[in-house]
Amino acid sequence: MNPLRYLILSDIHSNLEALEKCLELAEGKFSEVLCLGDLVGYGPDPNAVIERVRNLAKVIIRGNHDKACSGLTDAAEFNPLARLATEWTRQQLTPEHIGFLRDLPQGPLLFDSFQMVHGAPIDEDEYVLGPGQALPALRSLTMQAVFFGHTHYQGGFMLTPKGRFQSIRCLGKPDGLTYILPFEQGGRYLINPGSVGQPRDGDWRAGFAIFETDPPQVEYYRTPYDLARTQKKMRELGLPDALIRRLELGR
Ligand code: ZN
Repeated sequence: MNPLRYLILSDIHSNLEALEKCLELAEGKFSEVLCLGDLVGYGPDPNAVIERVRNLAKVIIRGNHDKACSGLTDAAEFNPLARLATEWTRQQLTPEHIGFLRDLPQGPLLFDSFQMVHGAPIDEDEYVLGPGQALPALRSLTMQAVFFGHTHYQGGFMLTPKGRFQSIRCLGKPDGLTYILPFEQGGRYLINPGSVGQPRDGDWRAGFAIFETDPPQVEYYRTPYDLARTQKKMRELGLPDALIRRLELGR
């Protein structure tokens, strides 16, 4: 049997240009698409992104922005810019797409042999930023791997078969396939594919990952996209300048 190859997308944030570029680069390299949430919020194309992802993905779990933009939660704990973008997105979304976002399953969700979650295994809204959150999560894992998003940092964390904690670093590489991480038997992995539509790891390029099941390994990718076009749309729609600028900074 051929190994399965999952294209894993996260934190697309209504950025259609970044999404299309990732799909273009991944073309022919995957068998299924999975999405770790935050389809919408911040960017200019919420409806088009939902339409594209829902037609492609086998499993989509919800992110905090999907909840807030569909009214499942209020945006009270968001910073003022995120709240503004949430309110704008709510007004743009079709009633059908609001219903679609509301019905997305909550993580962690067990799929194939791994877990999918937007934030952390113990709380879908928690940020796994460093050993403080990653280590307890890795130690309590009952499977080899969890795929998570939410931080918009590509990489993740692992425990080696001998129990040593390591951060997974794949930054500062040329465009395309940047890093391959083969899973070791007995190792545990928290994998962040990176953010498609609003990276915050200092690299503006869109990020995603492909997970091959047998033998298990993760491929990390990074690609430039038509950033100027996304920014122009945001400007024309009157979205906040700080949200427009952060895209080119990767912050
Ligand atoms: Zn996000």
